[in-house]
Amino acid sequence: MAKKKAAAKSAKMVYYFGKTKTEGKGVSKAILGGKGMNLAEMTKIGLPVPPGFTITTEVCDMYYKGGQKLPKTLSNDVAKCIATLEKELKKKFGDDKNPLLVSVRSGAAVSMPGMMNTILNLGLTDTSVVGLANATNNERFAYDAYRRLINMFGDVVMGMDHHSFEEAFSKIKLKYGVSQDTDVPAQGMIELCEAYKAVYKKETGEDFPQDPLKQLELSIEAVFKSWNTSRAVRYREVENIRGLLGTAVNVQSMVYGNMGDDSGTGVAFTRNPSNGQNKFYGEFLINAQGEDVVAGIRTPQPVAEMSKWNRAVYKQLLEIKDTLESHYKDVQDIEFTIEKGDLFMLQTRTGKRTGAAAVKIACDMVKEGLIDEPTALSRIPANDLTQLLLPSFDAAAKGSATVLTRGLPASPGAAVGALAFTAEEAVLRTQAGEKVLLVRKETSPEDIDGMHSAAGILTSTGGMTSHAAVVARGWGRCCVAGAGEIEIDAKAKKIKVGGKTYGPKDILSLDGSSGEVMLGEVATSEPKLSGDFAKIMKWADEYRTLGIRTNADTPADSKRARDFGAEGIGLCRTEHMFFEDERIGIMREMILAEEEDTRRKALKRLLPFQRKDFVGIFTAMKGLPVTVRLLDPPLHEFLPHDSKAQAEIAKEIGVTAAKVSSRVAQLHESNPMLGHRGCRLSVTYPEILEMQVTAIVQAAIECKKKRIDAQAEIMIPLVGTAAELKLLREKAEETIAKVKADKKFDGKLGILIGTMIEIPRAALTADEVAEYAEFFSFGTNDLTQMTFGYSRDDINTFLPDYLSKEILPVDPFQSLDASGVGQLVEMGVTKGRSTRKKLKVGICGEHGGDPASIDFCHRVGLDYVSCSPFRVPIARLAAAQAAIRNGGKKKK
Ligand code: PEP
Ligand code: MG
Repeated sequence: MAKKKAAAKSAKMVYYFGKTKTEGKGVSKAILGGKGMNLAEMTKIGLPVPPGFTITTEVCDMYYKGGQKLPKTLSNDVAKCIATLEKELKKKFGDDKNPLLVSVRSGAAVSMPGMMNTILNLGLTDTSVVGLANATNNERFAYDAYRRLINMFGDVVMGMDHHSFEEAFSKIKLKYGVSQDTDVPAQGMIELCEAYKAVYKKETGEDFPQDPLKQLELSIEAVFKSWNTSRAVRYREVENIRGLLGTAVNVQSMVYGNMGDDSGTGVAFTRNPSNGQNKFYGEFLINAQGEDVVAGIRTPQPVAEMSKWNRAVYKQLLEIKDTLESHYKDVQDIEFTIEKGDLFMLQTRTGKRTGAAAVKIACDMVKEGLIDEPTALSRIPANDLTQLLLPSFDAAAKGSATVLTRGLPASPGAAVGALAFTAEEAVLRTQAGEKVLLVRKETSPEDIDGMHSAAGILTSTGGMTSHAAVVARGWGRCCVAGAGEIEIDAKAKKIKVGGKTYGPKDILSLDGSSGEVMLGEVATSEPKLSGDFAKIMKWADEYRTLGIRTNADTPADSKRARDFGAEGIGLCRTEHMFFEDERIGIMREMILAEEEDTRRKALKRLLPFQRKDFVGIFTAMKGLPVTVRLLDPPLHEFLPHDSKAQAEIAKEIGVTAAKVSSRVAQLHESNPMLGHRGCRLSVTYPEILEMQVTAIVQAAIECKKKRIDAQAEIMIPLVGTAAELKLLREKAEETIAKVKADKKFDGKLGILIGTMIEIPRAALTADEVAEYAEFFSFGTNDLTQMTFGYSRDDINTFLPDYLSKEILPVDPFQSLDASGVGQLVEMGVTKGRSTRKKLKVGICGEHGGDPASIDFCHRVGLDYVSCSPFRVPIARLAAAQAAIRNGGKKKK
């Protein structure tokens, strides 16, 4: 019975919102789309919303599954809603006296600003345009609306070239001797409609449809089609939006912001989405339609100036702002229109914000009592903290920089780059390794790839709420918009500002927080965790139960990670230490040695370098644990493969070039990642392990003598059997004892010996392995590689296909595959702890910094995650979010 009900519910295709009735209670955003759900919600709480109805995302899904055909019964449901609208508004579709007009807009469950299609003024025909002229007593307005519809319908529904109409418009302007669209008189607009219809017929071979229901049906279909345009698909790829049914379609009665100087339209955020300040933030245009604001064609006025224009409306808008915030308990991004002094709400949605704004807003809302700490923590997208960790311009360097001009601070950050004038150019030059700024008069959604590639975005028109700004903020990409003093000539690839011209080779610096455009490369400085950011981190620490360590192999990285709150090093990869100038030569001598004796001699020369590295790292970590992993990569990675470089090495170490090349050939492996690497190296060459363990122990003793508490942990990589670990553990213990004896040190060092679990067999036999390990660290990079059988170095050859065909939901090297690889992790933890109850378990693969993977690690009971220094704050927050999501409470 319950099932039957649910099926009947999901079969409903259209939901009405208005005074007559508001349907859709309890229907999810996935079905109604964000816009549709919020229009219904605003109607319910009594806000002034023009009535309309929403066609569900399920219908979009049916449309595609049915071979791009609208379901048969849809037109009947739509007609019924139109009839309800007609009754409620006392207007009639296609009427020659008081016609009903509607807008048709997309609205997916996740907002995709500007990526899909919209049609306005729908319902105008040769008959109803006369009705509109009569009803509004404004012939010019009516025919202006009609020509806009023909143009939009031609573009969006029939796929006509945008420029086809322009020529006709120019002719009319010439005829009436005017240069601005707004100066064309009513008669001109009437003639323009005739001309547009002729263009329409010429290009499509059909008359412009005179049946409003036909217009509506075709427009609904066009919105569904726009779900799959390349720009929409690309946007979803970039934003990692997956698993949606499609877009909903919102059909809403029209209100007009372009009915004269007592009308207007605007968009606003209830708080500043760029820096989070609790100040109403937005823009409006008098006598304009909504699209004029978001398309960035005209530069609008700040919303605060609205009180000068219409005090009562501004007051009402401020009240609505407060109602919305207290209803949704979050920042809202709203669209509104004022028709002849009456305010209407056209949209509300959760406001996209920068990382910095997210942090400030969360803290402020807790202070205001609007939300509690767990809600505040859960609301900040952990990955967005990256934006707060990026460098900003160094204050001193900025002080002496030449400011060319100022635009609007549309999205914060510090971007430096050479100028690129098209999206395509920005993509190509970025791919070639250059840093570029995308410079556009205004950006259009077609520029999406270029905006994503560029280091920063600079536009000469458009406001803070233009699509360029909204999209850039969503990505944390620096953007300065509306820098009106800049003249851009995209064809000639140059900009002119302050009497000077700059081209593709010139470098500018953009400050997205102040709007300054500066000449040359201005130096940047490192970020600090202070103010609200520090508060969020403190709260996060009070909720998280997972420890956070870092992957670092230099004292500088260790210090940075510590400053960001790392509680230890989870992975110090020692191989990186052998690449520097002097060391690589000795390392190569060691590898090329044929006798153990010669190898030991080279290792003896490497020892002081290693010891110094460890002293530096132990000192930086001041008593926090440091897990040092013994040498892991196959040895041939340290040798050159071209004969010229081989000859040079041969000369340096005094052997023949032939000898070098034969050793390189000898070390060659068909599958080196499955070859002679990790613990297998120490099995063959125990002297390497001896040298490394000696360096660790000597460094620890040296530190202890200086009263620095070194907490070393020795980690043996790539173990697949307990026997391997048993052998190498014994060797390491012997070495520790020997160094202590040599140094006559009889104090406690407390060095732990453990292993990485990165081979499936080690996870499967973790109970046996744990007999010889005091800790496990999951190396999920290799574990993913070996579980899937995908080469971690070559995945990009096929991954894009796997993602676009939805074979994989995400790149498994970025986000842990919980259902596959995760089983091995879980098994490793359970089996390992069945042998050794107190076994310490962490993860040090790249997944340690990924919020979704951190959630998994929390659930399977790991002790800590380890990630790169810049991801430490993200991991702290993600760990708190995981704890909260799983019912965790604040620690006392
Ligand atoms: C791993 O395999 O997950 C790991 C951390 O080791 P590496 O990336 O150095 O192979
Ligand atoms: Mg590994």
